[in-house]
Amino acid sequence: MKSKINLLVELNKKHSELFCSQKLERDLYRANHPTNVVAFKCMDGRIHLPVITQTPLGIISPYRNMGGRFDLGWPLLNVSFDESVSRAVKRGERTLVLVTYHFSKGDAHRGCAGFSYNCEESKKFTANFRDQIRRIYGENNQVVFPVLIGIETDDDVLILHGDNGEVVDMGEVEEEDEASLVLMIRRLFPNMPERIVSDFLPIIKGNLNQLGEKKEHKEEAQLVHGEWVLAVGKGFDWLHTPNLALIVGPYDPNIGEPIKTAAGIIKANWEFGRIEKGIVVLASAVYADAADKTKTQERAIFMQKLSEDIIAQNYPEMVEYMNSMAVVVDHNTMKMEVIG
Ligand SMILES: [Zn+2]
Repeated sequence: MKSKINLLVELNKKHSELFCSQKLERDLYRANHPTNVVAFKCMDGRIHLPVITQTPLGIISPYRNMGGRFDLGWPLLNVSFDESVSRAVKRGERTLVLVTYHFSKGDAHRGCAGFSYNCEESKKFTANFRDQIRRIYGENNQVVFPVLIGIETDDDVLILHGDNGEVVDMGEVEEEDEASLVLMIRRLFPNMPERIVSDFLPIIKGNLNQLGEKKEHKEEAQLVHGEWVLAVGKGFDWLHTPNLALIVGPYDPNIGEPIKTAAGIIKANWEFGRIEKGIVVLASAVYADAADKTKTQERAIFMQKLSEDIIAQNYPEMVEYMNSMAVVVDHNTMKMEVIG
């Protein structure tokens, strides 16, 4: 187990170095594409939007939860998302919201365990969530623009659900020049403000580019579930390796439920012989300002204890195979520090 913890520390270190080295690239991207891009997505580790869309790390701000299940009625989420929108507005910018579900064309069991592999259910759920965002910010508002996107994880293909009812599978798009992609975005989303169209374009184009590139890690992504890390909290952009971790965001008021489900998925991985017995609980919180570090530590420690208690209550047989750690992550460098 020690070696598994070391593996996580090393993985974070590598990601942090990459994140820091991309700072100029990120700043340049933001200068060219100022729209605030937020993504709601499943905790499944195989969904890594910067890779899928070839955007620098840190451009797309993710919210993660089991199955990509969210409700803006959740008080914490409501406040956090609204703050993200407000910060963008203060900079004079709009917000593009990618509301995502995921599936695998090759094997239903590489699909979303958070929805018991039922793709239609997850699609319906995420469409309703998109509608909730529209309801809150206004149907025809030009500031917060949600789009429904499917992610096919065998090939990392985006499926765009147009507001005109049309569905475009990016795997089947032939034309790659920018002008025709812009026309396609306008056709799918007739009310999308021009600024957002321009900033949605590189995301779509990045997806097409990566489809054209043969990627070595693909084979790894073909595996069915084999996760052994239960990650709870925020700051997990570095944990995107397929089949490594299940990530539970801190927003669900019934956070015990997704923690329990995720622990159950890891236990099933043992039972099906996909991994050896072992689970690492990784509780994490993020701070942007060093002055907030002590508060942040308390959040991480609280979530660590909560997760341990939930596992002990629901799966007492897992306890002897459980290791847990609490960490805080510096938002400016994405470097984590183990605190407990
Ligand atoms: Zn999922």
